[in-house]
Amino acid sequence: MDLFNLSGRVAIVTGGNGGIGLGMALGMAKAGATIVVAGRDAAKSAAAVKEIEAAGAKASAIPVDVLKEESCRELIAATVKAHGRLDILVNNAGMSIRKQPEELTLQEWHTVLDSNLTSAFVCSHAAYAELKKAGGGKIINIGSMMSIFGAPFATAYAASKGGMVQMTKAMATAWAKDNIQVNAVLPGWIDTALTRRAREQITHLHESVLRRTPAGRWGEPGDFAGIAVFLAAPASDFVTGAAITVDGGYSVLG
Ligand code: NDP
Repeated sequence: MDLFNLSGRVAIVTGGNGGIGLGMALGMAKAGATIVVAGRDAAKSAAAVKEIEAAGAKASAIPVDVLKEESCRELIAATVKAHGRLDILVNNAGMSIRKQPEELTLQEWHTVLDSNLTSAFVCSHAAYAELKKAGGGKIINIGSMMSIFGAPFATAYAASKGGMVQMTKAMATAWAKDNIQVNAVLPGWIDTALTRRAREQITHLHESVLRRTPAGRWGEPGDFAGIAVFLAAPASDFVTGAAITVDGGYSVLG
């Protein structure tokens, strides 16, 4: 058995058309997986598919709006129809609305929770039967430093990402019997479209991240290739329910 070989495996990455999702997709593609890029923005998804194909892998774009249950279920069905199986699901799609708790509306709360947490539940729920049919599989959920810490602007976001870790643990215990491993990845501060907006909204964010991160830099999407391959591959078959930080040491600096 090749511990890090993903040949013959089919992986869905929600939000795989940019940022951390694309970094993970490219890693798994280089390890041999077929990638389904699942997002809303068709142009971004087409460009991501081209980039993955240029890396020598098979890829396709299947549109999804993770806020809609039916769309998540169609994503799983369309993946199996196009590629014959499903082995790996990366629940990466996410967003944030940065406001003080007293300014956050209930609608905004629901939008953040539904985009980040409920979507991962629905996609995993829909994927379960197919993963089981494949003889086992891997679910990788994307958390955040806000899975551990709090911040004044992150009430809904922190709730969603904290919930992601607890949901990961619960699903890991439920589906271990089916040889399905469920793990979470908690990124530090990574340079993507999401944080480019944050840097505009939060004063001195750029400098404070540099100061606080022992590695002395922001993370890049490419920093997620390795952890994606590990958690998607046989190398992690006895790893389940874990929440692994990929943060340049941000969360361990005392
Ligand atoms: P991006 O904004 O680049 O990526 C977010 C992705 O989510 C996009 O590809 C977007 O696709 C997709 N998405 C959002 N809402 C939906 C939806 N309703 N339906 C389908 N797709 C959707 O940011 P990142 O790469 O930074 O974020 C990826 C994940 O990493 C998120 O879960 C984020 O919370 C998490 N994270 C990021 C950190 C960072 O520092 N960047 C730190 C910690 C966690 P489309 O454009 O097609 O809508």
